Amino acid sequence: MSVHHSGRCMCGDVTYQCNSEALDVKICHCKDCQKASGTAFSSVAFFPSSSVSVNGKPTSYATNGSTGLTVKRYFCPNCGSPLYSQLEELPDLIFIKTGSLDDPDSLPPAGHMWWEHHLSWPNIVDDLEKLPGNPPLG
Ligand SMILES: [Zn+2]
Ligand SMILES: [Zn+2]
Repeated sequence: MSVHHSGRCMCGDVTYQCNSEALDVKICHCKDCQKASGTAFSSVAFFPSSSVSVNGKPTSYATNGSTGLTVKRYFCPNCGSPLYSQLEELPDLIFIKTGSLDDPDSLPPAGHMWWEHHLSWPNIVDDLEKLPGNPPLG
């Protein structure tokens, strides 16, 4: 299998490889992404879980997302970098934080989600689709 994308946390204790192309890339404006990123939004690339291999021991923190799904957010226990998340109810998908990619510019966003909660100050002038909540998943 060929590696299409790879990434790591800030300290390098956790690395990952993606052996397929991303299914989608979205900027998420949900409240939990604001908390977990410490800023206005996070950018996430959707991959089939089967195509991603993770090396190292990320820690996860589970929350109940706005739609009642359980979101497990994975981060490096050493440096705290957010890395990816998974929905307990949809284990076939993995949502990688594109800032953790070795080449973050390789996966530009194709749209926005949770626009309902977007903050007023980021000057977002793109013409991308702006979904009020989650896209249809699974
Ligand atoms: Zn780390
Ligand atoms: Zn979010």
